[in-house]
Amino acid sequence: MADTVEKVPAAESSSSTAEASIAVEKTEPTTSEKKKWGDVEDDDEEEANAVSELNSLSIKEEEQPESVLEEPEDSNIKAVPAGDTPYTSASRFEDLNLSPELMKGLYVEMKFEKPSKIQAISLPMIMTPPHKHLIAQAHNGSGKTTCFVLGMLSRVDPALKQPQALCICPTRELANQNMEVLQKMGKFTGITAEVAVPETTRGQPIARRATVSAQVVIGTPGTIKKWMAFKKLGLDHLKILVFDEADHMLATDGFQDDSRRIMKDIERVNPNVQVLLFSATFNETVKDFVKWTVKDPNQLFVKREDLALDSVKQYKVVCPKEQNKIEVIKDQIMELGDIGQTIIFVRTKVSANKVHKALTEMGYDVTSVHGSMSEVDRDKIVKEFKESLTSVLIATDVIARGFDQQRVNLVVNYNLPTKYDTREPDYEVYLHRVGRAGRFGRKGAVFNLLLEEGPDRQDMEKIERYFNAHVKEIKSWNSEEEYKSALKEAGLLDE
Ligand code: ADP
Ligand code: MG
Repeated sequence: MADTVEKVPAAESSSSTAEASIAVEKTEPTTSEKKKWGDVEDDDEEEANAVSELNSLSIKEEEQPESVLEEPEDSNIKAVPAGDTPYTSASRFEDLNLSPELMKGLYVEMKFEKPSKIQAISLPMIMTPPHKHLIAQAHNGSGKTTCFVLGMLSRVDPALKQPQALCICPTRELANQNMEVLQKMGKFTGITAEVAVPETTRGQPIARRATVSAQVVIGTPGTIKKWMAFKKLGLDHLKILVFDEADHMLATDGFQDDSRRIMKDIERVNPNVQVLLFSATFNETVKDFVKWTVKDPNQLFVKREDLALDSVKQYKVVCPKEQNKIEVIKDQIMELGDIGQTIIFVRTKVSANKVHKALTEMGYDVTSVHGSMSEVDRDKIVKEFKESLTSVLIATDVIARGFDQQRVNLVVNYNLPTKYDTREPDYEVYLHRVGRAGRFGRKGAVFNLLLEEGPDRQDMEKIERYFNAHVKEIKSWNSEEEYKSALKEAGLLDE
């Protein structure tokens, strides 16, 4: 894979160039049942619609800059700047004109040495006046959080004790995680921040809650909407609005209605608010919607075929019976010794409980997380896993996106991800699950456990075709040797 940044200097023609070369296929959305996501308590107004399938985006490649960063995981980002503002990639954090306090946060707290490619390209776009909107796609684990966290921190006026930056995420886990990054990175700035997620204690009524004075607010859409409705979150001084996992936040089977309403309410008060959309995936339906919502943005995109992480090896295993899947996990995966932490993804909370019970009965120490658990339990289980107190986490898709734990080397798809309504493979979620391993270029492996009967094998083929990727097969499901050589190939076991 070529490790280059391809820029399309756009001037007047930028948006039309991009628009002209985007192939969009429209399909009628079909109404269906609600999809439960992370913000369970607050998403009950959510109507889930089917999102159509997608083509990849092609943008003209005209010019290559000389400076190229080395990270393999986020190569091939294509930039389409809006208007004629020239942007220079920042190869060092020093190039960004950050305050000494923020530099200290980056070097001392975060221990970062230099910007990743998405950081190098997007940060000048975010921070340079006239502060254009930005749609930024980059690989899983390539450091997108730092882009919007630095963006928010550098745009806040520390002297003004009012909300100035707002970041909206699909789950409480992600809101909490982003808040942790912001507080660490902004430790020396004195900037204040508050997380807006459903409370773990059903305490005081919202009407009696104090008005938010924190300068940065990060939360889930339900709670943010509620705070806005009760005038607890002032919008007058908001300068920057971020959507993490933006494709999901703007999808009809995600949080489109909430996101749109929040955006509209803010823009009414503050027409110049800068909107940043970040995700590893943007399908054509979402891109099409974004065009009507966020005007004249800078754009960064990655082609679908280039999204796979080279450092994460993917395998598939065909199991004759459901029970064999448990045996594979037990005999092949759990017995392999110290290969770091593992996430086992399942489709439903019923499967989560089933797998949890089976493994616990066999004497293994596992935990599980899904959207129907209490907030207190969810927070506790995730915290234990993040602190490496537990090593195997069974999870539904509540943590498929964004969840960052550098020690996760192995992802097991006990069930392949499928769309809630159509049961078609969910390509984007598949990619996000894979991306829970191999953070920031680390090594990883994914095992897809397929049932011989039913749609699994076909679904796997569809996923392979969609990303134009080959997923290697473990030929006999109970051959220890094959798993071992797979893990050696992935760099997780010594030769
Ligand atoms: P993304 O949102 O793109 O999937 P994250 O922002 O969660 O990825 O970052 C993935 C990991 O990479 C995090 O653990 C983060 O601390 C680390 N990281 C991000 N930027 C840098 C950097 N410039 N240098 C070193 N590590 C980084
Ligand atoms: Mg992220």
